[in-house]
Amino acid sequence: MASPHLMNTYARLPVAFERGEGAWLWDQAGKKYLDALAGIAVCGLGHAHPRIVGAIADQAAKVIHTSNLYEIPLQDRLADRICALAGMDEVFFCNSGSEANETAIKLARAYGHHNGVQNAAIVVMERAWHGRTLATLSATGNRKAQAGFEPLVPGFIRVPYNDAHAVRQAAESNRNIVAVLVEVLQGEGGINVADRDYIRFLRQICDERRWILIVDEVQSGIGRTGKWFAFQHADIVPDVITLAKGLASGVPIGACAAAKRAKGVFKPGNHGSTFGGGPLACAAALATFAAIEDERLLERAVEMGEAIRAGFRDALAGVAGVVDIRGMGLMVGIELDRPCGDLVQRALDAGLLINVTADTVIRLLPPLVIGAAEARAIVDRLAPVVRQFLAQPA
Ligand code: PLP
Repeated sequence: MASPHLMNTYARLPVAFERGEGAWLWDQAGKKYLDALAGIAVCGLGHAHPRIVGAIADQAAKVIHTSNLYEIPLQDRLADRICALAGMDEVFFCNSGSEANETAIKLARAYGHHNGVQNAAIVVMERAWHGRTLATLSATGNRKAQAGFEPLVPGFIRVPYNDAHAVRQAAESNRNIVAVLVEVLQGEGGINVADRDYIRFLRQICDERRWILIVDEVQSGIGRTGKWFAFQHADIVPDVITLAKGLASGVPIGACAAAKRAKGVFKPGNHGSTFGGGPLACAAALATFAAIEDERLLERAVEMGEAIRAGFRDALAGVAGVVDIRGMGLMVGIELDRPCGDLVQRALDAGLLINVTADTVIRLLPPLVIGAAEARAIVDRLAPVVRQFLAQPA
């Protein structure tokens, strides 16, 4: 039983995991589960990956924290690595996806001020998810999450996702726009994949109007979609990207990286973080990048993602109630025609960790290290549960 001394913020499942290995977890009673969620896209290397364990242990034995009052060589190395892989010029480190997006929002506002826009506005999307701090909650396109926390932070203009015309209209009616904030594919919003042309259009309109294109890669980054960053599927380079989740394989970290017209906006004193980019998190992040590269996990994410989607298309072919099976790499969504939150417990009973988002979408985010047998096992365990669920009267 959970302690009554925890704030009542989570509807937790009644299970606690004691240890893990690769894509597998064991609960306190010794039951084994296949993890098709990876801590919500955090544990890309699975559990207890020896390189992450080693990097954390080695670093902990040297120095865990010194603060950003001093140089942190591992932070320098990590910034270099992110910039080289993402085409960025500079990075700010923090501790979560929300903080990374807060940084990007502040950066866009500061950019506006430098360019004479006092009331900067940022274009954001319906069904987007950017976090739960006040500014990122305000940028998030989910009324349920926002309800009760008004007044929200002003300065966001919401448009339908994947709709170029709506962005053009917003541009015509508002002179204060300084940036667009977008996910290449929406995770929490239901694994909604934007058209490649739409992302390219956003790049183009941001260039035409000298806006900043901010791409939220918190969930989609670090190899999950089969490229280091999802924006790379559209062959564009954003002005700002935000990262967190998979960046350090479970050690909390966030990052906001900037390039081109978005670089050089902050000066000392504008922004900061006590913990951000500490030696421990940076060591884990550097080990994460090295392992993904050495184990060729980008290729694997593409292959396993396709195998999982194909497996479900096959196993759920002709099943009434299955609306769509979609995604990119190892971000997989199975949309049903009805709310399906109950499936999470049923899958758990069948020894599988999954998630349901946007009420009707089964979301799978397995570790990038899964093999073909595990990809198959996800389908074999989940498809019968889905079939049985859909066979009941709605
Ligand atoms: N951005 C995206 C795309 C996310 O999926 C999330 C979390 O789910 C966040 C931001 C917020 O990240 P965090 O929970 O680390 O603050």
